[in-house]
Amino acid sequence: MKKTLLDYLPIVGEEVINELKALAQYLQGKVIQHINSTAVGGGVAEILSRLVPLSNELGVNSRWDVFKGGDAFFQVTKEIHNMLHGKEGTLTDEMKELFLDETQKNIESMEFSGDIMFVHDPQPVGLVSVRNTKPCKWIWRCHIDLSNPNPSCWDFIRPFVEKYDASIFTAPFFAQKLPIREFLIQPSIDPLSDKNKELPPETIMEVLERFQIDHARPIVTQVSRFDYLKDPLGVIDAYRIVKKRRDCQLVLAGGSAADDPESSKVLSEVQEKAKGDPDIHILDLPPTANIEINALQRASTVIVQKSIKEGFGLTVTEALWKGKPVIGGMTGGIPLQIKNKVNGFLVHTIEGTANAIKFLLANPLLAQKMGKNGQEYVRHNFLLTRHLKDYLILFILVDRSAHGVVYL
Ligand code: UDP
Repeated sequence: MKKTLLDYLPIVGEEVINELKALAQYLQGKVIQHINSTAVGGGVAEILSRLVPLSNELGVNSRWDVFKGGDAFFQVTKEIHNMLHGKEGTLTDEMKELFLDETQKNIESMEFSGDIMFVHDPQPVGLVSVRNTKPCKWIWRCHIDLSNPNPSCWDFIRPFVEKYDASIFTAPFFAQKLPIREFLIQPSIDPLSDKNKELPPETIMEVLERFQIDHARPIVTQVSRFDYLKDPLGVIDAYRIVKKRRDCQLVLAGGSAADDPESSKVLSEVQEKAKGDPDIHILDLPPTANIEINALQRASTVIVQKSIKEGFGLTVTEALWKGKPVIGGMTGGIPLQIKNKVNGFLVHTIEGTANAIKFLLANPLLAQKMGKNGQEYVRHNFLLTRHLKDYLILFILVDRSAHGVVYL
């Protein structure tokens, strides 16, 4: 069912909705055009699919276009993505040519009608080359960690970024020094999506029964793609230390993507390591399993996200929102979300993870209190409405940059 702004009112309160309406007044008559490279799948598409209709409801005329590319182009941009994350290697002339050709084709076939052009991530970054002929502002939103990019790749992408009026990063330590304005805006979750909405107890029970998980005993869960950087093997080690002292079950829920050959390798290593223990549940879920993930997070006693490297870590946000204490690796965006001993624990090691799990299992009232703290922290910082508010302020600032002082 289509969600409207009013549906968010009981969750975020009237003041937040009124602020959005007030800010939107400054943008009446403006067109915001978002461009990314996929209509479905991935966090960016998920966020845009909610942000765009809500902006329109506020009277801020927003449209969303998708950059079109073939398989070869997306292979190149996947490589660019990995290299911007620091992967070694060189972007060849052939790869650069393919990137530029596809960008040119999109420039020729797309309509650029925004007063503010809002381009997401590296794939469509080159579209900014049309800007000489269009009087509008260009914003580039980088959703990835650019702290340590492969120089050969960044040298190719950077000149495009420098043509924008402003850039947005998730956190200071994800950003690069640039000669354009930089804004820091954190991601968000939608509290009304299938992944995060309230669920009736029957649905949660049905999911537990389907996966043969015992609702009457403590459940420790990590939801993550099967990836070494999420350290599912380390989570099993931590669980085994805990299990010597306390009864509990471990759920490792994730997906193995067809285009990621490593995920099936990691999954089989995880399955091998878990073999023979009926209390370890390894769930290989399809990407559509939103209700299942929601139910598993809600049924859990403790959530773990023991990443070795992480982007923002939306699974942490999702778990905190469900009132669960979260134990997270001290990396990426996790420390922006977990406040040690307030809504969970930040850990560096397997032993540290095990100690934190043991503590939370032994202190259920404190665990509950931490969960409540986490939910309130997400309510104030990481919900879609805060994200929309940040974007509206940013649009006003960028649109009125020539005015010098901007009174809100
Ligand atoms: N997720 C999912 N199915 C899975 C594993 C993860 O739907 O099998 C979701 C998870 O709930 C979260 C997102 O994918 O919304 C993962 O985002 P995060 O920032 O935690 O990690 P990433 O996978 O982007 O590194």
